Amino acid sequence: MNAPLNPRRLSIAPFTQAAARLSGSRSGSEFGRLLPEPEGSQGVGEVFFEAFGELRPNAKGAMSPWIRLEAHTTLPMVCQRCLEPVDVEIAVSREFRFVATEAQAELEDDQSEEDVLVSAPDFDLLALVEDELLMALPPSPKHQQCPHRVKLAVADKDFVVTDEVVNPFAVLGQLKTPKG
Ligand SMILES: [Zn+2]
Repeated sequence: MNAPLNPRRLSIAPFTQAAARLSGSRSGSEFGRLLPEPEGSQGVGEVFFEAFGELRPNAKGAMSPWIRLEAHTTLPMVCQRCLEPVDVEIAVSREFRFVATEAQAELEDDQSEEDVLVSAPDFDLLALVEDELLMALPPSPKHQQCPHRVKLAVADKDFVVTDEVVNPFAVLGQLKTPKG
């Protein structure tokens, strides 16, 4: 392929016939739908994507165009435990089979395990990247470890919150007995 490939207008047939590969990254600002919670966010990070075209034989031996798509980014979300901002890494790896018409895609999508899309000479790969990242958003994002102690509403006056932090590894160390 001589001309540089445009991920906003990708010609599916030659891309898959040539078993071509297209990778790149785009500013998160191109992916407006990825920001469901703009407050407190620093914006979507860079979105990285890579697509691999391929022809694969179907059950009848005819060759079908396929694209394997990988993408990842970091999204600012709100932690559902401490309500502080949390950067969530999202990565997708999906495969799509392409058919000629919308009717065929609807029919075959129901019958196929893989996703079936309509082939086009100007396929918007980045819109597909955005769709897939959106579907991969965690429903309840959380810090692995929240940066601040979550404030507990204490109703019982006798309930004392201690400041002592127990390191689980230290406890494990105490439990270890020397080999003898
Ligand atoms: Zn948190």
